Amino acid sequence: MSFWGSRFFKRFHGLINSIAKPAISLIWPPLCQACECSIDDPDEKLCRDCWQDLNDSVARNYCKRCGSDIDKYSESAQGCDFCSKINFNFDGVARVGNYQGCLKNLILQLKFSGRSELAVTLGEYIDASLLGSFNDEEIDFFAPVPVHWTRRISRGWNQSFLIARNIKHFDAKTKNLLIRTRRTRPQPGLSFAQRRKNVKNAFKIRNSSSVQDKTICLIDDVRTSGATLDECAKVLKQAGARRVLAAVAATAGGSSSRKSGTALKYWD
Ligand SMILES: [Zn+2]
Ligand SMILES: [Zn+2]
Repeated sequence: MSFWGSRFFKRFHGLINSIAKPAISLIWPPLCQACECSIDDPDEKLCRDCWQDLNDSVARNYCKRCGSDIDKYSESAQGCDFCSKINFNFDGVARVGNYQGCLKNLILQLKFSGRSELAVTLGEYIDASLLGSFNDEEIDFFAPVPVHWTRRISRGWNQSFLIARNIKHFDAKTKNLLIRTRRTRPQPGLSFAQRRKNVKNAFKIRNSSSVQDKTICLIDDVRTSGATLDECAKVLKQAGARRVLAAVAATAGGSSSRKSGTALKYWD
C-alpha cells in the first residue's frame, strides 16, 4: 500500500472506530476481563476493583531468586525463607504478582474457560515484570513450559506458549525448546517433595545446539513449588544454556508450604 493509501486507510479506520466503538458498547457493553462485571470505558481491560487488586499484588515485594512473597524490607540476594536452602537450576524468577484475586481469575479463565485472548493481557503484564527484574539481561529465547500433547489436545492449547508469544521483550524470540515426555500427575494436593519426584525426567530438549551459550527465560502461568521450572532449567543447562531465568504470571505457595508432607493446593 502506498504512503497516501496507508494514511487514508488509517484515517478511515480511525473514523469508523470512533463511530462504531460507542455503538458496539451500547449493544454489547464491555466487560472486565477478570470478573466479567460491566465497565464504562471500552478501552479498559479491568474494572476498578480488579485493577486495584492487581496493583496491590504487583506492589508486593518478592524474592528475585524464587519469586515468593517476602517482607517489604527484606533482602533476597541469597534467597528467602522459602528458597535459601534449596539449590535451583534456574538463575532467577520474575513474576507479575501472587496467585489470588484478579491474576488468579485471568489465569484460570485462560486455562480452563477457552479464553485464549487473555494470553495477550498476561503477556503484557509479564513483559512489564521482566523490565523491572531482568532489564539488564539479554534474553535470547522465551521457552514455554510444555504440557503433554494429550493435555494440549484436551485443553486446546498450551497456555504458557500463548502467553510467551505475547511478550514483546527486545529481541527475544519464543521457541518451543522443550518437550514433556510423559503425563505427570496433576500437582494439586502433592507435597513439595512429591512434586519434585513427579516431574523428575519429564522433559527433554528438542535441539540442544539451539540453546548453546544462550540465555533462556522459561515462561509459565503459575510457579508453586518451583519443581517444574527447576526440572526444565536442569534440562536446558545440561544442553549448554548459559543462563536460565523464569518469568511467571503468578507465584503461589511459599515458606509455609515447603515443609515436606504439606500438600500444596495449586497448579504447578
Ligand atoms: Zn473486575
Ligand atoms: Zn526465595
